[in-house]
Amino acid sequence: MDRTTPETDWVSRLADEVIAEAELRAPGKPVVCASGLSPSGPIHLGNLREVMVPHLVADEIKRRGVECVHLLSWDDYDRFRKVPAGVDGVDASWSEHIGKPLTSVPAPAGSPYGSWAEHFKAPMLAALAEMGIEVRAISQTEQYTSGVYREQILFAMRERRRIDAVLERYRTKAKAAAAKPSQQQAVDEAELAAAEGSGAAAEDDGSAGSGAYYPYKPYCTVCERDMTTVTAYDDDTTELTYRCEACGHGETVKLAEFDHGKLVWKVDWPMRWAYEGVVFEPSGVDHHSPGSSWVVGGQLVSEIFGGKQPIGPMYAFVGISGMAKMSSSKGGVPIAADALEIMEAPLLRWLYARRKPNQSFKIAFDGEIQRTYDEWDALARKVADGAAQPADAAAYRRAIGTAAGELPGTPRRLPYRMLASVVDITTGDDEQTLRILSELDPEHPVRDLDETRPRLDRAARWVATQMPAEARTQVRAEPDAELLGSLEEEQRESLRLLRDGLADHWSLDGLTTLVYGVPKVRAGLAPDAKPTPELKVAQRSFFALLYRLLIGKETGPRLPTLLLAVGADRVRTLLGG
Ligand SMILES: [Zn+2]
Repeated sequence: MDRTTPETDWVSRLADEVIAEAELRAPGKPVVCASGLSPSGPIHLGNLREVMVPHLVADEIKRRGVECVHLLSWDDYDRFRKVPAGVDGVDASWSEHIGKPLTSVPAPAGSPYGSWAEHFKAPMLAALAEMGIEVRAISQTEQYTSGVYREQILFAMRERRRIDAVLERYRTKAKAAAAKPSQQQAVDEAELAAAEGSGAAAEDDGSAGSGAYYPYKPYCTVCERDMTTVTAYDDDTTELTYRCEACGHGETVKLAEFDHGKLVWKVDWPMRWAYEGVVFEPSGVDHHSPGSSWVVGGQLVSEIFGGKQPIGPMYAFVGISGMAKMSSSKGGVPIAADALEIMEAPLLRWLYARRKPNQSFKIAFDGEIQRTYDEWDALARKVADGAAQPADAAAYRRAIGTAAGELPGTPRRLPYRMLASVVDITTGDDEQTLRILSELDPEHPVRDLDETRPRLDRAARWVATQMPAEARTQVRAEPDAELLGSLEEEQRESLRLLRDGLADHWSLDGLTTLVYGVPKVRAGLAPDAKPTPELKVAQRSFFALLYRLLIGKETGPRLPTLLLAVGADRVRTLLGG
């Protein structure tokens, strides 16, 4: 890895800060970066930022040769809060599982996975692997039920009054804030959906209302729900008595031997910062309001658990534009796997790498994806020419690979826009697609579609799932005799010039020259003449005529691509030859 030029992007600056802090906290130990996700339902594409921000920082640290681990905490021991709408194989009967750990809720009908949590983790883990994101995944169910946190739980119970006192400071503040009109009332639905997957949903501090405060909540050993109330606890014997509001069960257990419950979220998170020695963990805006888990956690980790809060920038919301026909099996929100069906992993990485965490951005599922790809290809050319700005070049380098090496890419990167047009016109026929792609550049013909994959497959998937029906191209089966018969002499002459030039210009560049050149020649200008306003008008009206004759619409795919796709003989016929 070339380290001769210092990086100046946000990732590099955060890595500097994290390495310095890790050296202060635990010299010589691997640097710990962390993400947390709750598999409470489909994991929204926006939640990928929870993983991407620490990934990029951890990856930069590894590139510098410093040992670093990226923990991905699955908050799968959280309670099942509600049945998400629009998930295939799930109906209202799943509400009987509300209050159980996510790992104890059955997977949607037809799923190959053993639980709700596993069902929703699997596509995210597959997406992370495809994107080259290495994590050490931790199941909080496994941690809690195997007693890993036993000492921490007993400690938190002993310290419950001090914990309660810290929480109380913020409860008062939260109440005061709630009494004022909120400035942040408007949270759009997608944002809420995103917050669902982030763990913030369970902003539970264990507050018991009138009863004594306990930071620990058992899951009922009979019905598995967490609708339990701790009624007594003895610090010396660790005997804990609870009753279950859901099924009426009550019992006394020995907490020193009992592994069927968890610390409430606001205590759980700072406990784990201390336990795992996390130095870097960003979180979403939903965690950062007054009295929220991040703010309270910072007090608890230092005052109670003797640790330090991680460096944790707040990251802004990631939106989606488009999303036509988004599968209802995904609950109406796209997940990372949906994005990877229509774009290559390096491009998706780039969208996260090029924006600072506090900048919100949108991921295009609509026609804007073509512009995104154009920008990406333009950046690749600049980087190859050594002309990219340092921060842009850094983002590019972070997108195409990791410390472990480059990600697989497409050998022959034809413009996504053009591939989408070709697939649209050929309705995905491989033979026709290869014929067209082989004619684009006769000096360097595409000989095998594999040269253009996986980008070709992503564009094909975009056409099949996202391209609006009204934007689809249908080449006319027969010439438009009526329109051809109504043409003026000038138009007929232009079409003749175009038809006669086809054979000599049959490549993408050649046809580009030809379609722009015909109106120039008709205007008596040289083929390389600078366009005048009059010429531009003539070109526009000529192009509109070609579209009408070829596809019966005023606009369509770029003309050179369209002509190649339609084929010379058929073009001649449709243009009255
Ligand atoms: Zn119960």
